[in-house]
Amino acid sequence: MVIYTVTGKVGQAGYLDIANSGDISGKNIYVNMTNRCPCSCVFCLRQTKKMREGNTLWLKGGEPSVNAVMEIFDRYDLNRINELVFCGYGEPLERLQDVCNVIDQLHAKYPNLKVRLNTNGLANLIHGKDITPELEGRFDTVSISLNAPNAEEFLALTRSKFGIQSFDALKKFASLAKRHVPNVVLTVVEKVMSDEKIELCRQICTELGVTLRVRPFEE
Ligand code: SF4
Repeated sequence: MVIYTVTGKVGQAGYLDIANSGDISGKNIYVNMTNRCPCSCVFCLRQTKKMREGNTLWLKGGEPSVNAVMEIFDRYDLNRINELVFCGYGEPLERLQDVCNVIDQLHAKYPNLKVRLNTNGLANLIHGKDITPELEGRFDTVSISLNAPNAEEFLALTRSKFGIQSFDALKKFASLAKRHVPNVVLTVVEKVMSDEKIELCRQICTELGVTLRVRPFEE
């Protein structure tokens, strides 16, 4: 499933292909263009074979081309949606140029389209350079999963292939992204993290000048 909406509780049952989503006015529309990711988070649904086989966000036919994504979008009017969210069942910026290409084509048709990126914040490590200028004019919001208050805990949770440097790279990515994107948010999940750790994450956000969003815990 490449383009979908989320109903109620986030999870397999809550994902609806855009074709089955009815009236999309006022809804968030999610775009899933890759399952690739440099992390292997302990909580990620990608980790279990069962989910890989059964989850509709697993791109069984491989990654869709830009044209294939645009062909789906051509069937819908995005003028009245709330927000377009690149998130995927993987890291969207693994396909940086393709994601930019899709957004540029959509912005040509819908200049006021609001676009958000949900990311692990490791794109500069993935591409070996600062890619945040590419976000300018394309994304209104960049939401980065912070997950942990320090580098060791971050690595233990995400098992990033880039190792211990990943946490500092994420923070640097957030502060660079701020130069190009109006709204940069770091997120943590309530209940999985103690109040003390959430407070430490809040301090990190204050230092970086970005917003902390505490996301509700989903069973
Ligand atoms: S960063 Fe996201 S997609 Fe990648 S392993 Fe972690 S939870 Fe899964």
